[in-house]
Amino acid sequence: MGELGAFLKIERVGVPYRDPSERAGDYEEFVIRRPDPELSAQGARCMECGVPFCHNGCPLGNLIPDWNDLVYRDRWRDAIVQLHATNNFPEFTGRLCPAPCEASCVLEIREGDAVTIKQIENAIVDRAWERGWIVPVAPEHETGRSVAVVGAGPAGMAAAQQLRRAGHAVTLFERDESAGGLVRFGVPDFKIDKRIVQRRVEQLIAEGVDVRCGVDVGIDISAGELRERFDAVVLSTGSRAPRDLPVPGRDLDGIHFAMEYLYDRNRWVATQTGTPTGAEPPPLRGLTAAGKHVVVIGGGDTGADCVGNSIREGAASISQLELLPEPPPKRPDERTPWPLWPQKFRLSYAMAEVLEAGRGEQDYSVVTTHFSGDPPTTGSAGAPGQASDRVRTLHYAQSEPAPPFKPVPGTEGELRADLVLLAMGFLHPEQDLLDALGVEKDPRGNAKAVKPYTTSVDGVFAAGDARRGQSLIVWAINEGRQCARMVDRYLGDLSPDVPSGNVAEADAGPEGPPVHVGPGVAA
Ligand SMILES: Cc1cc2nc3c(=O)[nH]c(=O)nc-3n(C[C@H](O)[C@H](O)[C@H](O)COP(=O)(O)OP(=O)(O)OC[C@H]3O[C@@H](n4cnc5c(N)ncnc54)[C@H](O)[C@@H]3O)c2cc1C
Ligand code: SF4
Repeated sequence: MGELGAFLKIERVGVPYRDPSERAGDYEEFVIRRPDPELSAQGARCMECGVPFCHNGCPLGNLIPDWNDLVYRDRWRDAIVQLHATNNFPEFTGRLCPAPCEASCVLEIREGDAVTIKQIENAIVDRAWERGWIVPVAPEHETGRSVAVVGAGPAGMAAAQQLRRAGHAVTLFERDESAGGLVRFGVPDFKIDKRIVQRRVEQLIAEGVDVRCGVDVGIDISAGELRERFDAVVLSTGSRAPRDLPVPGRDLDGIHFAMEYLYDRNRWVATQTGTPTGAEPPPLRGLTAAGKHVVVIGGGDTGADCVGNSIREGAASISQLELLPEPPPKRPDERTPWPLWPQKFRLSYAMAEVLEAGRGEQDYSVVTTHFSGDPPTTGSAGAPGQASDRVRTLHYAQSEPAPPFKPVPGTEGELRADLVLLAMGFLHPEQDLLDALGVEKDPRGNAKAVKPYTTSVDGVFAAGDARRGQSLIVWAINEGRQCARMVDRYLGDLSPDVPSGNVAEADAGPEGPPVHVGPGVAA
């Protein structure tokens, strides 16, 4: 274990960020890495609990006490081996995970005192890349079986890597010009530099995964062809159908789904950084927040990333609206006591930048009632002119505190809005491919698993947001790994004479480690 009693004498030091006013001027990552000796001291705080709740809180079942101890003992190379035993892409989670492990760390019983697990994870993997310890891992043998993985987000990438390492021929199809899914085209570069994602794509290719970008499965290759050409299919297409806001004025110009804006911004940044793509990118839509009054509807991660991009573009003002009431500032122990994920207020990195610049605010309990454009101009000779078809005003009211969050009469107001970004979550995966394959769906429209990760169609599997609904990167990686395990078993049954089952020991069970962090910890 770490140092006996260290948690009593060493204070937790959280993740340092660059100054908000400085970082809002560029697209570089804003998290600062602490010097390794400081992180070793943080690792020493871990008590290696008899019942390590952190381990249970992590959807990947990361071996957290083990690598905390290894970092404390300066055994960084052993630490990356432990980390990779359960997590294919620790630099994704080390940068982007909300860290339910820390919320459930035993030290967090005293709120704000958890071991800085995520920071240590990130440092281990960054150091491993810097020292050249992360190299392609070739399979021990070839099974002669083939798998198509559809969708190269974190779930598809993890499934592809696990299956390739088990010796199967894997083709990873991706509609976009680059792999990475929402980590590539949703999350901005200032949260994760896309060269870091690309590095993992190159590792997959070097391991023998055939990565085909720019291929829309269902259109460029039919569902029937997919079934004919491959022994098994993994659907990891994400949860991409956005929730809309069907209020009067929704059709006005200037109102967009958040992902339309985020795709454009990420593509623009890629042109600046020169990050390679696997296929020709489409032309930019030209969506910009520069000089505009921006309103972001939705208070989650997607909304925050819209805010973060808008301030970097130089928006005139930015408002972020949330339908739900403002959560309490401290962990509400009567509702979400330790070790549950606490439903409490967290100031996003992006709102910190906006507040620092004095260019906007976030409001809770706000329901949008309608949008309007400029009033009709008076035409020649006093005749009424054309009403503007561009949004100019968002009309809102205070919302009731519980569903269906109706407007409270007498609380109406208006906000100037030149650009409105709808970031209210996602409903389910796009349905066309599921329908073409004849995959049964659950009541929410996700791919239904009749057995773990196994759809109603023989040989077709599902993982990530496409199966569980909109969630987190850590869950996507877990699902990709666990799904790979199920596919590997299925392929092993098809040809028992061919050696298979090279998937890591840590994934022995199809459901993965038990967790209590499901609902509430979402993007
Ligand atoms: C803006 C934003 C910010 C987020 N920030 C965070 C965060 O900070 N931390 C966190 O943990 N989670 C975050 N999330 C959630 C997280 O990104 C997702 O839960 C995760 O990426 C899901 O992984 P996935 O592989 O299941 O799906 P996705 O990442 O959605 O990947 C699915 C892939 O499938 C491809 N695809 C779909 N259909 C086809 C087809 N027919 N043919 C070929 N390819 C296809 C898509 O193009 C996409 O690349 C965020 C989400 C958004 C939208
Ligand atoms: S719960 Fe916290 S203190 Fe206990 S083993 Fe996990 S990280 Fe260490």
